[in-house]
Amino acid sequence: MNIILLGPPGAGKGTQATRLVDSRGMVQLSTGDMLRAAVKAGTPVGLQAKALMESGSLVPDEVVSGIIGEALDALAADTGVIFDGYPRTEAQAHSLDTILADRGRTLDHVIELEVDEDALVERITGRFTCATCGEGYHDVFKQPKVEGTCDKCGGHEFKRRPDDNEETVRTRMAEYRAKTAPILPIYEARGIVSRVDGMADMNDVSGAIVAILDGVPA
Ligand code: AMP
Repeated sequence: MNIILLGPPGAGKGTQATRLVDSRGMVQLSTGDMLRAAVKAGTPVGLQAKALMESGSLVPDEVVSGIIGEALDALAADTGVIFDGYPRTEAQAHSLDTILADRGRTLDHVIELEVDEDALVERITGRFTCATCGEGYHDVFKQPKVEGTCDKCGGHEFKRRPDDNEETVRTRMAEYRAKTAPILPIYEARGIVSRVDGMADMNDVSGAIVAILDGVPA
């Protein structure tokens, strides 16, 4: 099964993708994560992407479609994939069709996480993760149980994404409205779009997503 999780920054795509990885053995392909790794490693893709990511602008379509194709080639053909943060433009949506068809894969579901944009700014600007295991936290909603210690791995170092500041978040949302939301009709025409209330409790969001994947009527 291959699915797209769609929604503005901070909608919970990454959190929900991680849960599907844990519960269903699917693989999460997050272009944001792959680009951050490329920036950190100083690869040519990373050098090209760095300033664009810092400002909240999109990285060129051919760059991200290239890394998605390569990532899929590294997977067994029957591994289910969650596309997280890709596609983000119409050109990427068309590229994904070709990339999947070339590899004998089909797209089963596009799940849109519906959210309130103003609440998202608070959600994003407060978030941070454990530098060791990646567990997610939030200044207001989810502090570690013991201050300065990761609940999951006991690590003491935490990090914040450089693009999680208000100005950049607003740009990222504007990019979503202008370029990403318009790809939904492509998938609506195929009858594969489902919508989930992304402002609900995380566990309820996960339950709703699993019900869609299992074909349980809403
Ligand atoms: P994300 O982690 O999905 O919020 O992505 C962080 C940043 O990486 C975005 O603001 C873009 O600069 C870049 N990025 C990630 N995925 C894509 C994509 N599919 N197309 C273009 N740029 C992307």
